[in-house]
Amino acid sequence: MKKVEQPIDCVIGTTYNCNSRCTMCNIWKIKNSPELPVAEYKKLPQSLRDINISGGEPFLRKDIVEIVRVVHERCPKARIVISSNGFMPDLIEKRMKEILKIMPDIGVAISVDGYKDMHEKIRRIPDAWNKDMDTIERLQKLGMKNLRLAFTILPENIQDFGKVYDESKKRGIQFTHAFAQSSEHYFGIDIDNNPDKKELKKQYLHIMNSELSSWNPKKWVRAFFAHGLYKFSIEKKQVLNNDPGTKFFYLDPDGVVYPSVVHNFPMGNLREHAYWDSLWQGKKANESRKQVRTIGQPAWMICTARTAIKKNPHKVACWIVKNKITGMRDL
Ligand code: SF4
Repeated sequence: MKKVEQPIDCVIGTTYNCNSRCTMCNIWKIKNSPELPVAEYKKLPQSLRDINISGGEPFLRKDIVEIVRVVHERCPKARIVISSNGFMPDLIEKRMKEILKIMPDIGVAISVDGYKDMHEKIRRIPDAWNKDMDTIERLQKLGMKNLRLAFTILPENIQDFGKVYDESKKRGIQFTHAFAQSSEHYFGIDIDNNPDKKELKKQYLHIMNSELSSWNPKKWVRAFFAHGLYKFSIEKKQVLNNDPGTKFFYLDPDGVVYPSVVHNFPMGNLREHAYWDSLWQGKKANESRKQVRTIGQPAWMICTARTAIKKNPHKVACWIVKNKITGMRDL
């Protein structure tokens, strides 16, 4: 049987413990989360080029510094970003001082799901906005450049989408976003996410035109990603084929590998395999890929989209040239 190619992108859920109470996620209700021993991360494939260390809240892991050390040593060519809710400025600053010694260009993404009061309402944490801005400012003082605000689109916060984007520009940091999706094994929630279409279009046009008007090619690609997410949110279709379970995977805190955070077809448990390849090339992983192809739902998330964008540079370049020249008036 032909060998499956190696993955280049992954999300690592390090713990389900979480100090937030988000309306679109049930992870925080999980008590006594499993936590994969740090040594298990030495089995990660060295082919990885983008790794998102996530949770729950990853800074709640006492050994987060060690996790970064092991992951970085094992996958030295990978860009690493830690996704955090940002609600523990003291602890995050302390841990990041140590982490930056290991990997000075590591990134941190702070989730912000609304402008000021709306963020607090969705996260259900008092003073959520100020805590997050405090964390961002402390990380900037540590000299961090690779910082971003991460916005999750919901019907109740769509009018704040552009405002949070503008805030990231004002602070000179990056912006990323996602569409809240149903996920049994990750968010533990079944969600019907249908924001007002007119407002969604207005907000996306603002963000895409702003990204395209810059002279930064990374921002143009982000505009394409946004275009894909807009299409996905309206039509529930992907603009490009992506490869959950082939170029991408999600590793949960118990060691179970899934094709992505929305495809609940376990591929195997890392704890039960001495080497990555025995899991990735194994029967269970192949059955899981078959399920993705036959019954898997479409998805457009930064992790899976990134691999699709890398595989289709011409299509993406044509879209960018056309829309950069004419500007986007409609979607
Ligand atoms: S979305 Fe993230 S921060 Fe919010 S409860 Fe879930 S894991 Fe915690």
